[in-house]
Amino acid sequence: MQNTDDITQIFKGVIFENEPLSRHTWYQIGGPCDFYCIPEDIDNLKELIGYCEKNRYDYFIHGKGSNLLIGDNGIRGFVIDVSKACSFTKIEKSIITAGAGVYMPKLVLECEKLGLGGIEMFAGIPGSVGGAIKMNAGCHGKEIFDVLTAVTVMQHGSTVTMKKDQVEFGYRHVKTFVDPAIVILSGTMQLEYTDAEKLSERRKEFMKKRQQTQPINLPSSGSVFKNPKNDHAARLIDQCGLKGLRIGHASVSTKHANFIVNEGGARATDVLQIIKQIKETVFKRFGVALELEVKLVGFSQDELNNLI
Ligand SMILES: Cc1cc2nc3c(=O)[nH]c(=O)nc-3n(C[C@H](O)[C@H](O)[C@H](O)COP(=O)(O)OP(=O)(O)OC[C@H]3O[C@@H](n4cnc5c(N)ncnc54)[C@H](O)[C@@H]3O)c2cc1C
Repeated sequence: MQNTDDITQIFKGVIFENEPLSRHTWYQIGGPCDFYCIPEDIDNLKELIGYCEKNRYDYFIHGKGSNLLIGDNGIRGFVIDVSKACSFTKIEKSIITAGAGVYMPKLVLECEKLGLGGIEMFAGIPGSVGGAIKMNAGCHGKEIFDVLTAVTVMQHGSTVTMKKDQVEFGYRHVKTFVDPAIVILSGTMQLEYTDAEKLSERRKEFMKKRQQTQPINLPSSGSVFKNPKNDHAARLIDQCGLKGLRIGHASVSTKHANFIVNEGGARATDVLQIIKQIKETVFKRFGVALELEVKLVGFSQDELNNLI
């Protein structure tokens, strides 16, 4: 990167130079970025993005890093963490607007205390509201777009609120927000008044099920592949006998075949090799081209060849 000295003058938030991204991903994997920035507020976020765009520096919006596999060489440019700038929640009766940086499990608990239901099944999704919107995250038969009524985004400095019917979304994918220059600022959700105790019981049931079926004690990115139509990626991987497959310090979980776990000290290339092997084996055996749910960032084209 060229001279970035002026960044410390325009930027009022926290900034780390050459920051290892393994500190900011659930996988605990990922090389450094040039700058890891945590803007103070939305004005500050806008200024930072304006600075990057004016100087043609790459930037990447980071939530909680729970759906990311970041390459061992890291990311060039700016990684922008919106957890502080977008940390508000606004509640009007049963309508809640949550900032993109709010941690989803925390939002679930906050709503539970107020007797507001409809998102209790998301208690085990360890990401931000912004990440959940970008991914259309979901579980137990429900996805975030089932409760969203509007999303506020910023693009090239302009802020716009879009109603749900203006957004094109599908299973773990939101076409309208594919452009990486779109920053999700907040989401508005219509919830339902429900007995707080009942909500708490339901949440605990969902969490218990997760504990029984997923390796949540080890670093991962959750499900690596999307489920093919009318089937489960985990079933296909399991049928291929790939549970327990190990490369370096990464392995296919023996508890849930669609999770690749970091057993400690795994490198991104270990996980990538496993992904490649799963894709090839499942395709050979079932003719199914598994599609990635995890987002791969900071890999060279050579590394990604034959993958996507
Ligand atoms: C143990 C475990 C269990 C999981 N279970 C589930 C599950 O049940 N269901 C499910 O759907 N997912 C699950 N996940 C995956 C992950 O938690 C979700 O996809 C989550 O919504 C990602 O949010 P995040 O804040 O961590 O996003 P990140 O991983 O930080 O980012 C994901 C993508 O969103 C983009 N992004 C993040 N914030 C913004 C923003 N404000 N504006 C624009 N773009 C943004 C990033 O650029 C990136 O492209 C699981 C993960 C783990 C580790």
